Amino acid sequence: MKIVFATNNSHKLEEIRQILGESIEVLSLADINCHDDIPETAPTLEGNAMMKARYVYDKYGTPCFADDTGLEVDALDGAPGVYSARYAGGEGHDSEANMRKLLHEMEGKENRSARFRTVIALIEQKDGQPVAHTFEGRIEGRISHEKKGASGFGYDPIFVPESYEQSFAELGNEIKNKISHRARAVARLAEYLLAAGK
Ligand code: IMP
Repeated sequence: MKIVFATNNSHKLEEIRQILGESIEVLSLADINCHDDIPETAPTLEGNAMMKARYVYDKYGTPCFADDTGLEVDALDGAPGVYSARYAGGEGHDSEANMRKLLHEMEGKENRSARFRTVIALIEQKDGQPVAHTFEGRIEGRISHEKKGASGFGYDPIFVPESYEQSFAELGNEIKNKISHRARAVARLAEYLLAAGK
């Protein structure tokens, strides 16, 4: 079976290929020659993941899955959420600016609880019709008062997962990849795809 993962992020591709093994071949967007800037303009993680998967399915007719992740901070009513990549404005992915803004917004807040949430949307074909599923993974934790640690990416230096005292960036990828939002969502997707008949 072949399935497209609507990403060109090599870390995400490697992670899912390792979990799924050889029974399912996972293709990237580059593998199917898709170089489009796929729109992600929905107001929710679910909506964005579905929008990306549906775009590829409609254009290429192949089963496809896509992911979207956000950091949801309770004291900020769930922000930055779906806007996590571009929280500080601009084109996005300026992690230093995003963390600076978040720490500033959290000044004086007592409740520092937060979670990372990943949604994976899958579109399969059954009897010639598209069928959609979503899989969610989350990790609860809290926003620290300052950045700590050097590994990982994004908000890792200021997110302390529950049951730990160190940030994701201090814990390192080996521990993070066992407990993370993304690992949990990917495990649910893999369980579904590897079940008999998929
Ligand atoms: P994406 O949907 O995987 O591209 O994630 C959107 C944004 O969420 C990223 O640009 C990061 O700012 C943040 N993010 C996602 N996953 C993580 C993570 O594991 N650690 C820290 N930040 C993350």
